[in-house]
Amino acid sequence: AVRLRGLRKAFGAKTVLDGVDLDVPRGAFTALLGPSGTGKTTLLRILAGLEEPDAGEVAVPRRRTTVYQEPRLIPARRVLANVTLGQRRGPRTRAAAERALAEVGLADKARSWPATLSGGEAQRAALARALVREPQLLLLDEPFAALDALTRLQTQDLVAELCARHRPAVLLVTHDVDEAVRLADRVLILREGRIALDRDIGADHPRHRDDPEVLALRRDL
Ligand code: ATP
Repeated sequence: AVRLRGLRKAFGAKTVLDGVDLDVPRGAFTALLGPSGTGKTTLLRILAGLEEPDAGEVAVPRRRTTVYQEPRLIPARRVLANVTLGQRRGPRTRAAAERALAEVGLADKARSWPATLSGGEAQRAALARALVREPQLLLLDEPFAALDALTRLQTQDLVAELCARHRPAVLLVTHDVDEAVRLADRVLILREGRIALDRDIGADHPRHRDDPEVLALRRDL
């Protein structure tokens, strides 16, 4: 679903991406880790089409959506209208949005205002808005970072379940090794503008925090 070749991006004199090659197949759940300021968000923004690379090839599916750290709901629109935002109006769009809200456990919040939602609910509404478009590529930019510990775990489980059902290619940017290992089939580390580590952690891999591969990942960061 994603193919990057020789991707380069600089801001002024600062080279952020320095030749990134990456393939993410359909249905794969990939986590992207790396020290702060290494260009993870820049890479995601290029994949989302919000930023132009200076050089390199970018092939991404047309249907792609992003979930950010903050839900970014429009306060003056009800939850349902936030989910259908930018889509053609009509009964089919509405029905799809209602289904998406039900999938994230917010069926009863369709007519609520964003300000009345908890942080976890707002983030689930943002997930519904991303999924209702049936993305072939789902970009997740630290979507759990602002949630409290319990809500974070619940929302991670929900994302795992939704992604297993809808099977988009997923690229999750996170600082949290445990989260990456919990959710992803593959872990990438971006360092000094390149993919410095690319490790398959496979569905049958024991994902325990003391697992040697997980410990190795921590060392690599
Ligand atoms: P973090 O983990 O802290 O979120 P990151 O890996 O996502 O960091 P980016 O946000 O992609 O890193 O930023 C990479 C570098 O590019 C940083 O040094 C940042 O200051 C710089 N940068 C990003 N966007 C711009 C911009 N629009 N103009 C100038 N510099 C930028």
